[in-house]
Amino acid sequence: MATPDLEPYPHLFIGGRWAEPADGAHVDSIDPATGRPWARVAFAGPGDVDRAVAAAREAFAGPWRRLPGHERAALLRRFAELYQRHAPQLARIESRDNGRALRESRVDVGAHHQWLHWYASLADKLSGRTIPFDDSVHVFTSRLPVGVVAAITPWNVPLMSAIWKLAPALAAGCTVILKPAEHTPVSSLELARLVEAAGFPPGVVNVIPGGPEAGAALVAHPGVDKISFTGEGATAKAILRNGADTLKRFSFELGGKAPHIIFADADIEQALNAATGSAWALCGQSCALGSRVLVERPVYDRVVEEFARRAAKVRVGMPLDEATHMGPQAHAAQLEKTLSYVGIALGEGAELVAGGTRLDDGVLAGGYFVAPTVFANVNNDMRVAREEIFGPVAALIPFEGEEEAVALANATEYGLAAGLWTGDASRAHRVAARIEAGIVWVNTYRFLRWSTPYGGMKHSGWGRENGLEGLDAYLETRTTVVSTTGRFPDPYAQ
Ligand code: NAD
Repeated sequence: MATPDLEPYPHLFIGGRWAEPADGAHVDSIDPATGRPWARVAFAGPGDVDRAVAAAREAFAGPWRRLPGHERAALLRRFAELYQRHAPQLARIESRDNGRALRESRVDVGAHHQWLHWYASLADKLSGRTIPFDDSVHVFTSRLPVGVVAAITPWNVPLMSAIWKLAPALAAGCTVILKPAEHTPVSSLELARLVEAAGFPPGVVNVIPGGPEAGAALVAHPGVDKISFTGEGATAKAILRNGADTLKRFSFELGGKAPHIIFADADIEQALNAATGSAWALCGQSCALGSRVLVERPVYDRVVEEFARRAAKVRVGMPLDEATHMGPQAHAAQLEKTLSYVGIALGEGAELVAGGTRLDDGVLAGGYFVAPTVFANVNNDMRVAREEIFGPVAALIPFEGEEEAVALANATEYGLAAGLWTGDASRAHRVAARIEAGIVWVNTYRFLRWSTPYGGMKHSGWGRENGLEGLDAYLETRTTVVSTTGRFPDPYAQ
């Protein structure tokens, strides 16, 4: 099924083998920097989902479940070492597939092995508790793997999302079917090569690129015990309905509209570094970015001016070019969506102070590039402040004082992340404690590590990834009660 000039990825990874898709389907993966296909990739349908679930179930029932924790840990460590060694190539492939500037992908992908090592170190420590009651019973709990996990990932951070799910799921003793998004399938297939080289038993990890149809087949499948999903809220709702009949476990990492609050007493230079960086990183395509910048009145004009000045410094260009700060949007529909919000914001009376246009001169022609965009005089009721755009669009909203800052920060259906900048330590704690978000960064932003729980309140999700909480998501608890007397009264004696 090779097409000249396209990188061939003709197989799915199922049960430890490279398999042709059951119905022979292949799709082109588009390079968003050129708008042209760059790889031809196997595309899973429902028949492949059946095969992958069967392989994952067999592995779960067989060798994987019986493998002691320290041996699972050893495999995870071998995988981590291979992953670290191949991180530079993985980062390039990720950037090719989703357009993220290589300088960003390199930092992101270059840290993933830490997740694998950290969870490896927990694989043999899944201990329960003894529960003191009275002398008549000995009560203890055990932690058990949930079973077969379907990991459904988005296109903005395919490898990060895969590793955030694979590391704890494998440490817990689950088996996994990874389904990357249809726009960005390639890096997950490269990851499968490393799984194979690490020597995991067949079926412990299966990788099947596919679209919504394959995703829905995984969700409905009675052989899948848990769905770990990262993506849009609307998709999560469809998944909940579709998975209801089989009463699956779900965890959801969904969208955000993070407030990034800058108080006048903050170190404004540092705040600007974080706020501009996080407005335009990943070309705006990350759930945690501070897309609503709330700025206290006395420093508002200065912050607006600086955003406009710094927008002009952002080098938008080809993702693999070392000089590039910001690549294109990851696919054509996202480009259209971002540009449509420029019109919406202008229509609502926001003031465009930078960007707002597609960039398609010279080498950028054909790619999905957008200029870093800044809107001033935004109020929190505007759609540009309420809805997740997923483009490099910063909405700068003025406020007066702490009460208004907190009210605006929380006036959103989302609750994933928030940032705040202040020179007053008491205020930092006071405000952080009132923010409705799964993570609050104070005088820093986007600090995300393997050990720090991450996930959403409100419409931003269910459950947490990373940290010990991330492992809990893949474990069940069994309570065992053992009588120390062996006596059980006859209920019908009298
Ligand atoms: P999406 O919901 O469109 O797709 C995500 C995945 O779900 C893809 O693999 C897709 O094929 C699959 N899918 C689509 N329809 C399905 C269905 N009916 N049943 C099962 N699977 C289905 O999301 P996206 O556009 O790829 O990703 C962008 C979204 O992800 C944004 O909202 C962003 O905020 C969110 N996101 C959240 C986090 C987080 O950690 N909270 C991280 C990254 C991205």
